[in-house]
Amino acid sequence: MATEAKTNLFGLAPSAMRDFFVEMGEKPFRAAQVLQWIHHYGADNFDGMTNIGRTLRQRLTDVAEVVAPQIALDQEAADGTRKWLLRLADGNCIETVFIPEEGRGTLCVSSQVGCTLNCSFCATGHQGFNRNLDAGEIIAQVWVANRALGRDPRGERLITNVVMMGMGEPLLNFDNVVAAMQLMLDDMAYGLSKRRVTLSTAGVVPAIDRLRETCHVSLAVSLHAPNDALRNELVPLNRKYPIAGLLDACRRYVAGDGRRRVTFEYVMLAGVNDSVQQARELARLLADVPSKVNLIPFNPFPASAYVRSDRATIDRFRDVLMNAGLMTVTRKTRGEDIDAACGQLAGRIEDRTRRSLRSRQGNVSSR
Ligand code: SAH
Repeated sequence: MATEAKTNLFGLAPSAMRDFFVEMGEKPFRAAQVLQWIHHYGADNFDGMTNIGRTLRQRLTDVAEVVAPQIALDQEAADGTRKWLLRLADGNCIETVFIPEEGRGTLCVSSQVGCTLNCSFCATGHQGFNRNLDAGEIIAQVWVANRALGRDPRGERLITNVVMMGMGEPLLNFDNVVAAMQLMLDDMAYGLSKRRVTLSTAGVVPAIDRLRETCHVSLAVSLHAPNDALRNELVPLNRKYPIAGLLDACRRYVAGDGRRRVTFEYVMLAGVNDSVQQARELARLLADVPSKVNLIPFNPFPASAYVRSDRATIDRFRDVLMNAGLMTVTRKTRGEDIDAACGQLAGRIEDRTRRSLRSRQGNVSSR
């Protein structure tokens, strides 16, 4: 038996795949073929890779493997939203959500097991943190969903957009997230355009600049408050990277391309950040940033301390922004009955921060 661990080709970015074949003494075009088998056709072994000769297939079987995480749960909501719980090799579980809409299908992908940021309104934050996902575990979510969904009657893929808006802070797992996004963009793999891959961040300012230089996908920023005092409370990362510097990074991100805008996400919390005055403050703040605003009605989860703003309040908030010339949409709440809505993803993680324990204890005493 071979004693050396086999290389899992599953999560290799296009460049790493080329390096792998060159190190084997093979031609770089083999990388494109294998990428296409794994990601385009959904292969998880070498046997069916018919345009690769038998000798090379045998060599590959000896030194490499194609291993994806297991599906632990596959649920469909009344509105067609679908959620997969994936079990990773170490026993942790992460969640991925597919949101079908008229003319497009969006897959919401996780980047970490849990999250370190501890935003006060987010279920993932309350769960604590275990570790970063590797590139294979990130792209596996696209692979699994793609295989499970199949194709539409015209033979087209159902996933037309990917948003890095699942569990975790993608910019705190930079290299693995970029490797996975390179696969999403590669024509041999998923062939999505940069416009259709969106990374959402709570505002890791230096990494926003790095992203512009390495993988210039669409950017969304979880703003949630119009000033530092309130944002410090809701998004503790704001204490390290306050709003002014964050917005400067956003302006740099879209500079030089008149069509690009940053999406600002704003969760609507009753009585906390949803007043007309706060809408005006937000409009002033974003007046000189090419932006669109996504209002997200708060989704409750066990132990959450907030209440969703009511419809009239959300509409009024939206109208203030629209009247100030900001493109604004209210995000539809999808998949609530299977806990698949924004901020409800919790997976099943082994928390290393003990935060979930503290939050559970708080929950027990308040019941
Ligand atoms: N860490 C990244 C990626 C997570 S994206 C980020 O912060 O952007 C998930 C989005 O859902 C973020 O905008 C997040 O702020 C929002 N969200 C989190 N909890 C929520 C909740 N309970 N209800 C509605 N939106 C929530």
